[in-house]
Amino acid sequence: QGPELFLSSPSPTSAARPHPRRLDYYTSYRFPRPKAGEMASPAAAAPPTEPERWRDLDMLLSRPGNLVHSTFDPSPGLRDLIGSYVEVLVVGAGGLGCELLKDLALSGFKNLHVIDMDTIDVSNLNRQFLFRIQDVGKPKAEVAAKRVMERVSGVNIVPHFCRIEDKELEFYNQFQIIVLGLDSIEARSYINSVACGFLEYDSDDRPVQETVKPMVDGGTEGFKGHARVIIPGMTPCFECNIWLFPPQVKFPLCTLAETPRTAAHCIEYAHLIKWDEV
Ligand SMILES: [Zn+2]
Repeated sequence: QGPELFLSSPSPTSAARPHPRRLDYYTSYRFPRPKAGEMASPAAAAPPTEPERWRDLDMLLSRPGNLVHSTFDPSPGLRDLIGSYVEVLVVGAGGLGCELLKDLALSGFKNLHVIDMDTIDVSNLNRQFLFRIQDVGKPKAEVAAKRVMERVSGVNIVPHFCRIEDKELEFYNQFQIIVLGLDSIEARSYINSVACGFLEYDSDDRPVQETVKPMVDGGTEGFKGHARVIIPGMTPCFECNIWLFPPQVKFPLCTLAETPRTAAHCIEYAHLIKWDEV
């Protein structure tokens, strides 16, 4: 009676239900559906009608509040105005990007672009909820755009499957807001320099409103997260307080060169020392 016996002994349900590690688990297994009246199934519920969907947002836009600018002029027509006028760029279509695209679409924004150089990996599926098992290997930007457009009528999302550096600077100038769902400091630095590069000052040294490109930056690590708004010319930019980031974990070079002994050491060894020889 060893551990192997324990591992290989079939459980009573294993014939009907493939192992979670196997690909067909996700594609063929159907979780038992609740019987009628047992539990409300969100999939079976009718989709919200258009007025229902926008009810709360319209209420927000049609009354004043103490969190809005003094020039804010509440009106029920604002949603249409914002939707047709404002173009928003979402940078990254990963864990944050999926949420951002859905939230922006459900906030009435109709002209969205999304840029991401990645393709979908099976390990993304637990949190990047716009993707399915059959999407593995496809570009994130394209699948995310398609999924949101299927669910929210009237929204147009243009996907860009490329690196952020591949785009001309003028590409970024067409947007009124840039929203970042990135996982690296370098990428944030790049977008920050592009957005701040558009900023112009008038003869009184005040930022010219039309050249101000606001950025909304978000980030997650484990269970922690942050969000902030960067308005070039008015708030500190990304580069101004880059020192607030915790220092990146580094290893002494001698350890890497002589005795790489952990998995992290080996990866750094390959990256720093052996990479150029490949
Ligand atoms: Zn700055």
